[in-house]
Amino acid sequence: MTRNILIQTMIALALAAGANAFAQQAEPAYDLLLRGGHVLDDKNHIDGVMGVAIKDGKIAKVAAYIPPTSALKTVEVKGLYVTPGLIDIHVHVYAGTGERGSYAGDLSVPPDGFTFRVGVTTVVDAGCSGWRNFEDFKDRIIDRSKTRVFAMLNIVGAGMRGGHYEQNMDDMDGEATAAMALKYPNTIVGIKTAHFAGPEWKPVEQAVIAGTKANIPVMVDFGVDHPERPLYDLLTKKLRPGDIYTHMYSGLRHEQDPVTLGPSKAFIEGRQRGIYFDVGQGGGSFKWSLAVPMIKAGFIPDSISTDLHVTSMNAAMKDELNVADKIMAIGVPLKQVVAEMTPDSFSHGRKARS
Ligand SMILES: [Zn+2]
Repeated sequence: MTRNILIQTMIALALAAGANAFAQQAEPAYDLLLRGGHVLDDKNHIDGVMGVAIKDGKIAKVAAYIPPTSALKTVEVKGLYVTPGLIDIHVHVYAGTGERGSYAGDLSVPPDGFTFRVGVTTVVDAGCSGWRNFEDFKDRIIDRSKTRVFAMLNIVGAGMRGGHYEQNMDDMDGEATAAMALKYPNTIVGIKTAHFAGPEWKPVEQAVIAGTKANIPVMVDFGVDHPERPLYDLLTKKLRPGDIYTHMYSGLRHEQDPVTLGPSKAFIEGRQRGIYFDVGQGGGSFKWSLAVPMIKAGFIPDSISTDLHVTSMNAAMKDELNVADKIMAIGVPLKQVVAEMTPDSFSHGRKARS
């Protein structure tokens, strides 16, 4: 072999290696590129036309320009809004047990039929299960759904299974509830108290014990209105900053000031303390006569949620975007409405207490 041939061979080998490296480089970095859409992402302070690149099912890059050659597939979404997956923090999805008249049964719905079609990727089941039946719920629904399902544990050990269970104060155990929450810290994100008809504070107090031990927020559906446990005391004394008051526009428990028609003193002082206020429309917890004057007075929701269940799904509620439309119709801008469906209220709550 002459020296020349040797050199040529070396060059050829080098070129081959280079070409190989080039081929590897040319492999698209992303699986999917959404191009030309208006990205609204409050958490990351983005409000403008951006490319969104996705790799292995996750957002890999958001930038003003991402070349189409860097993705296997490009979808033009000019003229559309692109948001993070929406979060609905109040749903009822412990379906499939066969129990009649129960939110741990026939009153709940399977999550996947109601989520992705309206941009929701994550839901929080608001207290269908308690510490006694959470693991059944997890096995039956949470672990099998494509929707990411978190849970708030009901302070009632048996969960949301009707009056016989939900009024049983002997089954409201903050310690046992906290122990279950701590066993599944990646799935149980809150404690729920709901539907209580008595004058006692026990459900709220035990829920706060559980929430404090597990360092997660408490969500309150304040049940039947009682002078012995006024809303003012709930929001200014009993709950902690970061806890959540749901059904904020229900008008069932003095949410509205009777003179100004804006938020009551309890609401104003509660918000100043750091209590969060959630819509939770459901079957009967959204009144225009409250929502309009309260929103006009500046009392907008911290979170827009559905309170999805078998009754609300075909009534005025329907789905997350329908509820969001109502809040927009009253005057809250789109950007803010999207923010109210995408923040991580729970990490805010944790931060507020740590
Ligand atoms: Zn509910």
